[in-house]
Amino acid sequence: MSLQHTVSRRGFVGGLTTALGYLTLKPHAYAWAQGVGGASLAPRVQQGLDEYDAFAKLANNENPYGPSDVVLKAMTRAFKYANRYGYPDGGIVEEIAKHHGVKPENVMLGAGSGEILDVSCSAFLIGDEKIVGSDPSYSILYQHATSLKADTIKVPLLADFRQDIPTLIKATRTHYRNVGFVYLCNPNNPTGRIVTRQEVRQLLDGIPEDVPVLIDEAYHHFVDDPGYATSVPYVLEGRPVIVARTFSKIAALAGMRLGYAIAPREIIQRMRPFSTGSVNAIVKWGGVAALRDTETQAKVKKVTLDLRAKTTADLQALGYSTIPSDANFFMVHLRRPVQPVIEEFKKKGVLVGRPFPPMLEHLRVSVGTAEEMSRFLTAFKEIVPQARTASG
Ligand code: PLP
Repeated sequence: MSLQHTVSRRGFVGGLTTALGYLTLKPHAYAWAQGVGGASLAPRVQQGLDEYDAFAKLANNENPYGPSDVVLKAMTRAFKYANRYGYPDGGIVEEIAKHHGVKPENVMLGAGSGEILDVSCSAFLIGDEKIVGSDPSYSILYQHATSLKADTIKVPLLADFRQDIPTLIKATRTHYRNVGFVYLCNPNNPTGRIVTRQEVRQLLDGIPEDVPVLIDEAYHHFVDDPGYATSVPYVLEGRPVIVARTFSKIAALAGMRLGYAIAPREIIQRMRPFSTGSVNAIVKWGGVAALRDTETQAKVKKVTLDLRAKTTADLQALGYSTIPSDANFFMVHLRRPVQPVIEEFKKKGVLVGRPFPPMLEHLRVSVGTAEEMSRFLTAFKEIVPQARTASG
């Protein structure tokens, strides 16, 4: 177990059994030192580390810093409700509604935004209905549709890896009667590219007005591009738009499973029967604290964007182009099949993203701590030794 993990866990569990004030600042000070300073590298391997903890984890777009102290404290305090089925809940639904300027009836919680995506499939893909969406995009949604025996009409990305809005509109209009919903991941996973606010409007205005549009804003908090905007205002306009958000990324609560949908009341009512309603009681309190903890969010965003800029600049200096990203990950064009390279990285203790067909020469790299990014770059130079000359 790495030092970071050892003290993080001790801090969290310790908080359950001892005084609240016990929660140490050390794990976070340590994590931040790695992330911000760049120079203080964690020991690569310590005695007793299991294999997973020793990896640089750049495969799943997680937040490497862990939940902030205020979030940990809120969850620690809430542990006394662990024996209850979900209430008291810290007022999470009201807090989310307030955060977005909507009513509680416009909010549905999920065990991660993954559950919101699943519920959207179950609610809107009935009979012979299909999804219209870009390819590649968040494929787990498409896999879920497949498991429900529903098809996806996949629209390839443009040459610059942006989503092809006119073709998404055309596909939706052509198959109008059979479209369960349109899926728009913004920013898109795996590319990190945004859909601009004008393009979102173009899409919504260009398709029949009763077609639901699921807009997945899992990476919203990392966007810097002024051309981007959240699509929550369309919910207030009463359009059939479902905005999916998660606490897994900016708030570092991936393992605790909390996400939500913002949608018009009638849409939420259609979705609710398909939800399990099983969000754990503790993370609801953590979610409330996380929504209020804008200071930590700003820090996470800054350190992530700084490290993304540094790493992509280093790769470009080695002769490898990267796709401009507005998320906590990016793609680098390897100009060779990605699968063997992924395996080489693993041998060197670095977990990177899986292949994303049809982009089989692009590697997706999550932005980890400074130490992890430095290990990534070292491994990259070893695995792709001809990097410098390749640009030639
Ligand atoms: N949507 C996108 C685009 C994602 O990348 C992910 C996870 O990586 C999810 C949804 C699901 O996240 P979670 O279920 O942890 O909220």
